[in-house]
Amino acid sequence: MAILQKANIDEFKAHFQGNMILPDDTHYDEVRQIWNAMIDRRPALIARCTSTEDIVLAVQFARRHDLVVAIRGSGHNIAGNAVCDDGLMIDLSLMKSVKVDPEARRATVEPGCTLADFDMAVQAHGLATPLGINSTTGVAGLTLGGGFGWLSRKYGMTVDNLISADVVTADGEQVHASEEENADLFWGLRGGGGNLGIVTHFEFQLYPVGPNVLSGLIVFPFDQAKSVMKQFAQFTEKMPDELNVWLVTRKAPPLPFLPEHSHGKEMVALALCYAGNPAQGEKLIAPLRGFGTALGEHIGVQPYTAWQQAFDPLLTKGARNYWKSHNFTRIEDGVIDTIVKYAAILPSPQCEIFIGSIGAQTGRVAPDAMAYASRDANYVLNVHGRWESPAEDDCGIAWAREFFAESQPFASGGAYINFLTQDEIDRIAFAYGPAHKRLSELKKKYDPTNFFRMNQNIKPA
Ligand SMILES: Cc1cc2nc3c(=O)[nH]c(=O)nc-3n(C[C@H](O)[C@H](O)[C@H](O)COP(=O)(O)OP(=O)(O)OC[C@H]3O[C@@H](n4cnc5c(N)ncnc54)[C@H](O)[C@@H]3O)c2cc1C
Repeated sequence: MAILQKANIDEFKAHFQGNMILPDDTHYDEVRQIWNAMIDRRPALIARCTSTEDIVLAVQFARRHDLVVAIRGSGHNIAGNAVCDDGLMIDLSLMKSVKVDPEARRATVEPGCTLADFDMAVQAHGLATPLGINSTTGVAGLTLGGGFGWLSRKYGMTVDNLISADVVTADGEQVHASEEENADLFWGLRGGGGNLGIVTHFEFQLYPVGPNVLSGLIVFPFDQAKSVMKQFAQFTEKMPDELNVWLVTRKAPPLPFLPEHSHGKEMVALALCYAGNPAQGEKLIAPLRGFGTALGEHIGVQPYTAWQQAFDPLLTKGARNYWKSHNFTRIEDGVIDTIVKYAAILPSPQCEIFIGSIGAQTGRVAPDAMAYASRDANYVLNVHGRWESPAEDDCGIAWAREFFAESQPFASGGAYINFLTQDEIDRIAFAYGPAHKRLSELKKKYDPTNFFRMNQNIKPA
């Protein structure tokens, strides 16, 4: 990498409209730090873009000076590719506009938007599209890897609802991608994880949702975990598209609806959301209460935007996080036994194992329709290792890896690229699955020098 001279940076600054941050700036540490505190990298320069023109300038500057680039949306990616050592961090997090066309039920979103930015803007019109379950996550990274959340069983993966994208390519060109224009690029963007260019605008399809939805939690004691999980596995195979139920096992936070004696103890919880008429939803969720003798529940009709933020307090920035994830078509007894075994020995109070339900509409799209190919995944399991101090790393990482290895025999093909950690390079091709070959050909066409390589990287064919 070339050494950056002050004169070079001054020349870049003369045209750049956003903020330029250097290592001796007061805000440098705050801006370079991403969600996962386990990642601690120091870029030579951070370009905080405010327009597409800024992004083009940043790409051209990095090319001229042979700099490694890292693209940051909202900085949530567990693998930490949003930040690099020494090179240029192209930070998009200031670009937050959301333009809604309520008549056409479409929204055009800039790449610095969090899920909260998006949800708030579109819910003002009673609209939404499937996004994730933690409102501080970035729309950009989530979409480029696939994207799923409470609405996915009804409306599909986030990528299934992408209508078009504006992209700055590796040579600094601006192109539009849709089914009609640059269709090959559009295919690759929908699951190719930011390998093919920098998306400056995402255009999404929206649907009427809420604004109030039936949603909440039912919490069972851990000694009922096995039975609750078995019933969860059966129930979720047959539930209607409008209903989504996830399962999480962890130590109980001190939630006011749980008895004090259960705080800090292992438990198993069902988290649910019904994207339809709440009265109808009440009837459908009634059997969940009979899965055991609940410690407590907190279910009601609340704004969709509030439910989208419900897990934010457990997922704040700044902790050390290490994840391992598998896809499943079915939750079999073997994986239930493994979950129960490892949930009983959580290495920290913040660790959890969750099963996110997808399926229904996510499985009705052809596996080769776009780069996201895991259409047989009905569940995404994530073992979420999370703790505060580096001294806990070894123990927490070992727990996550051992759980991962023991649950692997029950997993199906593919993996969710947005849940891969930095040490899973050997799983990247497996995660892209049947799309990997075509993605590497597209990489050769759109980024032959692998300029965009801080990502779940696809090498040019
Ligand atoms: C607490 C938490 C909860 C989550 N919950 C869910 C969930 O419910 N559902 C789900 O699907 N996922 C979920 N995720 C995973 C999430 O989808 C990924 O972490 C995603 O990468 C986050 O996007 P970001 O923009 O914040 O990431 P960043 O770290 O900013 O970016 C990730 C990568 O995406 C690429 N990228 C980002 N922006 C652009 C762009 N504009 N153009 C090209 N490439 C770009 C870059 O390669 C970058 O390294 C969750 C993550 C966290 C930490």
